Amino acid sequence: MPGMHLKTHQSHVEKIFMSVQSTIIDSELEDAQARLWRHYEEHNPAAIREDGILNVALSFDGSWAKRGHTSKIGFASVIEVMTRLVIDFHVMSLFCQICATTGEPLRIKNAKEYEAWLVKHKESGTFTKNYEGSSGEMEKAGALVIWGLSLKYKCRFNMMVGDGDANTFLALTNLSPYGAEHPVQKEECVNHESDPPSTFLNSTVAEHVRPIYERLTRPDLLERCLLGATQSANKSLHSLIWAKCPKHNFTGYKRVQIATTLAVGEFNAGSVLTRQLMSAIGCRINSVTVEMGCKRDRQRIARAEEAQRDVAKQRREKRKLAQAKRQQEGVAAEGSSVKPMLVDILTRRAVNLLRLTKVRKHLDHDVHVKRRTICVNK
Ligand SMILES: [Zn+2]
Repeated sequence: MPGMHLKTHQSHVEKIFMSVQSTIIDSELEDAQARLWRHYEEHNPAAIREDGILNVALSFDGSWAKRGHTSKIGFASVIEVMTRLVIDFHVMSLFCQICATTGEPLRIKNAKEYEAWLVKHKESGTFTKNYEGSSGEMEKAGALVIWGLSLKYKCRFNMMVGDGDANTFLALTNLSPYGAEHPVQKEECVNHESDPPSTFLNSTVAEHVRPIYERLTRPDLLERCLLGATQSANKSLHSLIWAKCPKHNFTGYKRVQIATTLAVGEFNAGSVLTRQLMSAIGCRINSVTVEMGCKRDRQRIARAEEAQRDVAKQRREKRKLAQAKRQQEGVAAEGSSVKPMLVDILTRRAVNLLRLTKVRKHLDHDVHVKRRTICVNK
C-alpha cells in the first residue's frame, strides 16, 4: 500500500490543529478549572478569599523540544498540588514554517507584497511564531503568560513550587500579577532540596560540604518545603507529551500543541478528550474505541492505586531508612573529628525528612481519593 502523500498528511495535521486551537484547549482547561473550584468548595472553602478569588499552590516547570538551549519550541505548565490537575499550559515557538518557506522568498522579492501577505497569514490562524527571545528564557516567558492569565478564571497562583532556578521566580516577583498585597511565594521542590548524596566523602571534602547540609536543615528552608510538593507531576506530564511527539523527529509548533493538548487531557481526565477530538475532526467513535480508552484508564488508575498502597509505601520508606542508616554507619566508620558533626547533621536531616514524609502522607491521601473519584467515563 502506498504511504500517505506529504500534502495529505499536512492537511490532516492542519485540521487537527485548528480543532485543537479553536475548541479543544478551551474546553479542556475550563473543565480542569471547574473541577479545581469544586474540590476547594467541598474540601477547603477557606482558600476562596473574600474577593471571590481562589488562592492555590502550583508546581511549575518547562520543557523544550530539543535538548540544550537551541530549541525553537518549548512549553510551560502548572499543576495544582492538591488535585494534581494541569490548570494551564503554554506552548511557545520561535519559528513559523510557512514564513520560512513562503514568506521569506516573497520578502526578498517584493517587500510591499510581503507586508500584505503577512497580515493575511496572521489573520488566518496559521502563523505559529508566538515568542521572541532566546530559548533559555522560554520557561520564564511561559510563567509570565500563565500567571498573567490566572485571574481570568478567578485564581491566584500565590505559591509556586519550583526547582532551584530563581530566574522565573524573580520575573514573577517583578511582574507582581496580584499586586503588593498578594505576593507570589516560592515553595522549594522537595526532590530538589533533599536528594541524598550517592557517595561518601573524605574529611577534607566533608568540611566544604558541611555548609550545604547546614543550609538543607535551615528552618526557613524547611518551612518552604512544608507542602511536601514536588515537580514530579510536571516531569510525568512532560514524558507523556514527548512520547506523543518524540524529540528525535522534527517537531513543529502544531505537532507540539496537539501532543500537549492530548497529553494534558489524558493526564486530567483519561481518554475522554481523545474521543472528543476524534469526533471534532469527523472520526466515528464506535464501541471498540470507547472500550479501548476505558481499558487504558482502568490500567492507569490501578497502577496509581498500587503505588499509593500502604505495602508499597512501607517498602519505599524502609528502603529510605535503610539508606540513611547505611550513610550514618559509613560516615561513623571513617572516624575523623569532622564525622560526628556530619552524623549529627545527617540525623537531623533524617528526622526532617520523616516529618516531611508525614505531611506528604496526608497529601497522598487526598490524591488517592481524587484518583478514585475520577470517573472513567466522566
Ligand atoms: Zn508564518
